[in-house]
Amino acid sequence: MTTDNHYDVIIIGGGAAGLSAAIYSTRAMLKTLVIEKQGLGGQILNTGEIENYPGFPEAVNGVDLAEMYAKQAVRFGTIIKYDTVIRLELDGAVKRVIGEDAEYTSKTVIIATGGEHNKLGVPGEEEFSGRGVSYCATCDGNFFRDMDVTVVGGGDAALDEGLYLTRMVKSVTLVHRRDQLRASKILQERAFANPNMSFIWDTEVQDIQGNGAVDKLTLKNIKDGSTTVKPTEGLFIYIGFHPVSDYLKDVVELDNGGHVLANIQMETSMPGLFVAGDVRQFSDRQLGNAVGDGIAAALSSFRYIQEHGG
Ligand code: NAP
Repeated sequence: MTTDNHYDVIIIGGGAAGLSAAIYSTRAMLKTLVIEKQGLGGQILNTGEIENYPGFPEAVNGVDLAEMYAKQAVRFGTIIKYDTVIRLELDGAVKRVIGEDAEYTSKTVIIATGGEHNKLGVPGEEEFSGRGVSYCATCDGNFFRDMDVTVVGGGDAALDEGLYLTRMVKSVTLVHRRDQLRASKILQERAFANPNMSFIWDTEVQDIQGNGAVDKLTLKNIKDGSTTVKPTEGLFIYIGFHPVSDYLKDVVELDNGGHVLANIQMETSMPGLFVAGDVRQFSDRQLGNAVGDGIAAALSSFRYIQEHGG
């Protein structure tokens, strides 16, 4: 097949996993397409300083790293298209990837669509999204200079981003539904030592209110059931994450959470379909893991193409 839209490898998703796969595929001289729906880099675009990625003892900025990944992939010949994939048809030797804008074909497909932030699902969340409610401190923190803001969640993301916010806002109050944080000890120590950070335990956000922009939250103590109204000028929500895999439902085996099942070589239940990064079952959801997955998926896809007469 020699149409313009036919490739050896199509990688769906241009985050760390997808771009790592692209670097390896193109260096193996495979015609490689990355289909990305928003911006190259994925989640690291929302991360200020990345401190735990090996090789950067002084930390690396997420946006800078994303740019380097993309540059490296393009340098070896990766083709990038911006489109949203809605369906896959993978039964035959020619895999069909159907996007909103075009249809693409290939010998193998690598899924690297990552995940999205979970929502609280409370009244006001949608209404005030972008008007005080945010899921990205690194992107929006500057709009909240010298203001009092609230962070919801008790994981690494809530603490990491909460600590980032303390550099610019007046105060950060972290609201967590339990009395213990899930985040790593090093982040906990930093958060407890930060004079601009305080904590409200055993508490959930019941609703978000405002007049044009967020100005208060109703909080509910889940131990005694009492409610209080807390004034705040911003709400940053970090309550985890779900894989982007709706378009894969009838195509490949998923677990109950929607993650793609795969072996350690990133092979899925569908021959010629590989997976990498946060969309994969049992991913540790770390940058280094995404990179490693991308490499493993690219190598497996290369072997598949060789074995199937590529
Ligand atoms: P996470 O580790 O799953 O933590 C989610 C937090 O949100 C938990 O504390 C959870 O409470 C709380 N939560 C969940 N649903 C909630 C709800 N409906 N209402 C209120 N609170 C709710 O997710 P994450 O922090 O986004 O991290 C995701 C992954 O990325 C993790 O593997 C993490 O290590 C990684 N990450 C790492 C870094 C870093 O290393 N610097 C930074 C960011 C993210 P419970 O604790 O009660 O379950």
